[in-house]
Amino acid sequence: MDIELKSQLHLWENIDDLEIIPGDQIEPTLSRTTREVPCLLKPGTRESLIELVAVARSHKIPIYPVSRGKNWGYGAHLPVQDGCVIVSLERLKTIGPCHPESKKIYIEAGVSQMHLYEYLQKHYPQFTFNVTAGGSDTSIIGNCLERGIGYYRSRTHELHGLEVLTMDGQVLKRDKRLWHSSHPDGIGTDWEGLFFQSNFGIVLGGWFSLLPRQERTIFLSLLNSDLDTLIDDFKKLYRNRLLKEITHIADPGRKEYVLNGLISTKFPKLSSAQIDRVIQQVSSAAFQGITAIHGRAAVGKTMVKEIRKLISPSTTLNAFTPQKVKRLALWSRWIPIPRIRSLGIFLESVGELLLLSEGTPTNIGHLGIKMHGENPNDADELAVFLNATLPPRANATQTLRSLLDQQAVKYSITFIVNEEEAVSAIITLHFETGEAEQLQNHLKALTTALIENGFPPYRAGIDQMEQLNMPPISQQLKDFFDPLHLIAPGRYT
Ligand SMILES: Cc1cc2nc3c(=O)[nH]c(=O)nc-3n(C[C@H](O)[C@H](O)[C@H](O)COP(=O)(O)OP(=O)(O)OC[C@H]3O[C@@H](n4cnc5c(N)ncnc54)[C@H](O)[C@@H]3O)c2cc1C
Repeated sequence: MDIELKSQLHLWENIDDLEIIPGDQIEPTLSRTTREVPCLLKPGTRESLIELVAVARSHKIPIYPVSRGKNWGYGAHLPVQDGCVIVSLERLKTIGPCHPESKKIYIEAGVSQMHLYEYLQKHYPQFTFNVTAGGSDTSIIGNCLERGIGYYRSRTHELHGLEVLTMDGQVLKRDKRLWHSSHPDGIGTDWEGLFFQSNFGIVLGGWFSLLPRQERTIFLSLLNSDLDTLIDDFKKLYRNRLLKEITHIADPGRKEYVLNGLISTKFPKLSSAQIDRVIQQVSSAAFQGITAIHGRAAVGKTMVKEIRKLISPSTTLNAFTPQKVKRLALWSRWIPIPRIRSLGIFLESVGELLLLSEGTPTNIGHLGIKMHGENPNDADELAVFLNATLPPRANATQTLRSLLDQQAVKYSITFIVNEEEAVSAIITLHFETGEAEQLQNHLKALTTALIENGFPPYRAGIDQMEQLNMPPISQQLKDFFDPLHLIAPGRYT
């Protein structure tokens, strides 16, 4: 870099419609990892972004583009390396046009889950989309580029027709003659894929997949005290095409923790002893897998019958519609039997969680971390995420736990099973405030241990990038697209 970090601010001041936040006013992150950042820039238009990139290029200033910077647990808004100017695209929020016949909508990088939800409610209520548990304010494009996972499926293949600004000021996009949103793969080299989990360009916008709303939603809860049997049951259901949507399996400890948060949020007047009693009465110590079926009511009913036939005798299946949850919760208010009232409190509390799989973004997922306000960056404890793909071999879940136990850290796990029968573990490491350094050490050691033992990550945070040791092709592509290495240096390269 040819100038001092601190004297940079004046460079940006001549650019129109650019918000400048000095480095010392940038908020901390959930994991309290730190980086030296000169400033955070928020362009209000595409032109101001292009101008900003030209200034960065001529002064050789590294920049770190984010869509909304809510990458909580993986570094939030912070860059991988010190000295980068953060460029947040959160003010670029165009939604539309929509191609209802292709089930695609154009969005810019700053569009959040809630922005799109509200837009669809107003203009295209026949559509919903694959919502994540990250929160209402998280982006869609940043999450897709990170190959995030929604309640319906992975978001990897949900974004096409990208417009990408490269460091030389070019905007790469599909040739209109040769591309239409109804056949998003188009023709020729899949260059768009190069901009996922990379640092080759700045993604301005793209076409996102919508899901037509269905006649009926049926939630399925499968319980078993043996995790491997439960995972095998889900794999069998995917293999037989009885399930399609993602399954989340929570550790019993994590389940109780989240339930506690859900109940105390919905019923703030209940004491912690009363909440404990409700949980004791309605929740079992088993592993619980939750998924959903969306489709025709009669087909859903038949599928549930077939699912019952296929699962292990030791697995308990509960199937319920949102309407049934509401009815039971209401009915329980009039029955003066403590166990039934507990069931009602439970059902009223989990309602919002179930909304996620119906395509309604909420912040309810944040109850998995200890926090007092709306912003996970202000959480009362430190948390960092890492993830691991489980190899399909015997004892994989036990090996994973023993690797985690060797680090003697407090952790919780959510297992995700998908249509391909792949199982990923989303691991949260929990720490007290003031333990940020230990947290980083454990995270790095665990990342290396998991990779060496055949549990590769599908996504990484800013403090894990070095441990990935990416193959040389990433560096060669970087040299081609961004020879001065000015965009997000160190990220997946
Ligand atoms: C309680 C909790 C629950 C969560 N649940 C989920 C979940 O269910 N599923 C899930 O996937 N995640 C989840 N997360 C993780 C995270 O919050 C989300 O993935 C979130 O969507 C990421 O933030 P963002 O969308 O603002 O992306 P950003 O932070 O904007 O982007 C992520 C990264 O992608 C790159 N990038 C972003 N935009 C661009 C661009 N336009 N051009 C070039 N590079 C770019 C940047 O390197 C950036 O750091 C959860 C987090 C918490 C705390």
